[in-house]
Amino acid sequence: MQSMFYERATDRAHALSLAQQAGARFIGGGTNLLDLAKGDVEHPARLIDISRIGLDQIGEQPDGGLLIGAMARNSDTANHPLVRQRYPLLSQALLSGASPQLRNMASMGGNLMQRTRCGYFTDTAFDMCNKRLPGSGCAAREGYNRMHAILGASPSCIAVNPSDMNVALAALDARIIVASSKGERTIAIGDFHRLPGATPQVDTVLLPGEMIVAVALPASPFARYAHYLKIRDRASYAFALVSVAAALDLEGGAVRGARIALGGVAHKPWRVAAAEAALVGQPLSDQSCQKAAALLTAGAHGFKDNQFKIKLAQRAVVRALRMAEQTGARA
Ligand code: SF4
Repeated sequence: MQSMFYERATDRAHALSLAQQAGARFIGGGTNLLDLAKGDVEHPARLIDISRIGLDQIGEQPDGGLLIGAMARNSDTANHPLVRQRYPLLSQALLSGASPQLRNMASMGGNLMQRTRCGYFTDTAFDMCNKRLPGSGCAAREGYNRMHAILGASPSCIAVNPSDMNVALAALDARIIVASSKGERTIAIGDFHRLPGATPQVDTVLLPGEMIVAVALPASPFARYAHYLKIRDRASYAFALVSVAAALDLEGGAVRGARIALGGVAHKPWRVAAAEAALVGQPLSDQSCQKAAALLTAGAHGFKDNQFKIKLAQRAVVRALRMAEQTGARA
């Protein structure tokens, strides 16, 4: 682990000015970046601590939505009464991730920025990883790839985004508010994370010097019929093989609106508008859910060890939608 400078920002303007320095990286809970720095995977020259500049608030928006500060801890967000009431999908997704200790430290912004858990990326004993060493190749393509992508992969990288929270945020149409010395801009969650393409070392569209300040959730009709389903190798403290954030707006048994996002299958949460549209205007049935699942996974491609994820994802979508329906019926 190389030595680095550490500075604690006193307010937002201070943080943004410190971020102008070469090699500066923001740090909140440090649950991912510090691990990667200790493992020699990341080499930040300067850490700018933004954990005490007032970005941890969760508040209501005039439109009935919520604004969640970038430094709100994952535990606090998951257990916030308004999040539980209006966005149970987000609460469930957060509580399915990591461990209580990690959730007490991890922040919204850090979770958005967390990097893949591909073993060839996190272990520097391996020479080939385009994400860690651009141009070196992708060891996972011919190596052990059970956890890897079935959608949106490229010849350069087949890694997946490991976050549960991001999958729920995708289904909820979250917007990411970022700030820099030039002002603020808002990025739709669907545009925030990138597919790997030829530059897998770049995970997001965040520009140098930009800092995530908040996540905005629009008012949602999907609070009642919602379910986050996570399928993994053990019951806790494991990343998803496949996860599904499913939410329905049901009226008299017919689907008025639907949101489905897949996790554990691509470099970013995976949504397909046609899959959601296929459910609208008809009663929910196994057949309609299967059709949506097929549309959502159209073009899926497996590798040596992860072919099973295609069928698993399709079945998980059907199950998550039916569980969302049942959850609302019991409410
Ligand atoms: Fe690296 Fe991506 Fe290949 Fe994993 S899948 S070895 S992260 S390039």
